[in-house]
Amino acid sequence: MTEILESRNLTKSYSSFRNGSRGREEAGNNGERTEILKGIDLKIARGEFVSVMGPSGSGKSTLLYNLCGLDRFSSGSVRILGRELAEMSEKELAGMRLNEMGFVFQQIHLLKDLNLLDNILLSGYLRGNMSRRKIRTRAEELMERTGIGSLARHGITQASGGQLQRVGICRALINNPAILFGDEPTGALDSKSAAEIMELIRGIHADGTTVMLVTHDPKVAAMSERVVFMLDGRIAAEKSLGRFSGDGDEAKGRETELSRWLLETAN
Ligand code: ADP
Repeated sequence: MTEILESRNLTKSYSSFRNGSRGREEAGNNGERTEILKGIDLKIARGEFVSVMGPSGSGKSTLLYNLCGLDRFSSGSVRILGRELAEMSEKELAGMRLNEMGFVFQQIHLLKDLNLLDNILLSGYLRGNMSRRKIRTRAEELMERTGIGSLARHGITQASGGQLQRVGICRALINNPAILFGDEPTGALDSKSAAEIMELIRGIHADGTTVMLVTHDPKVAAMSERVVFMLDGRIAAEKSLGRFSGDGDEAKGRETELSRWLLETAN
């Protein structure tokens, strides 16, 4: 398999001080190190769809941030898209995130003075490798595809949570990323909007994009090909689910299979 991402013995520590406050960075002289990631070995193949599950506080989000270069890990290595993250400058990391990665988080941060279309266009313009006309056409197509075509000129206060999440997905896809990272992308949505967003993500994966999601929702994780279960900063177990066809009955079967496995694994 050709890996798009590989971490080896990845660790991340924070310092914790005697008075209980937590520092963002590595332990200083008067702090004790708390290891949040304790040696993660993970490979993700190009085109694969992987979900990361596990109890709250087990290190799922920390893992995601350290794999995509949004945070700096303490030791070990991460190779992504052919580059060693530790060897890259902040500027190079920012470029890689803009050009080759897409992000969908639970809370999407949009610029409130721009309409929905312009929020999407901005990421395309920042990359600047296509003409503005082409970027606009792609943004409009993405908005159509995600069912928000008629909202292009609306402000962000005129859209629902589910619609804003779609804007986030359009923005994540405007530069045609090789890999899409999501941290609880459906976490703030009602079940109908969540199902629609998942259907979109499934389509993005079907088009060949690698997807890595952090989620606590078995419905969401059941759509992925592989589930990685984290416990206390380590990968405690993995389950392969195979490729999902998109069929409703199959979805229910996968969710049941995954839920049973989670019950066994979490015990
Ligand atoms: P999960 O996503 O599984 O809920 P997180 O990765 O968010 O877990 O957090 C794992 C642990 O790391 C938690 O105990 C959290 O308090 C700690 N942590 C996360 N970010 C920081 C930080 N910036 N400074 C100190 N500790 C942190």
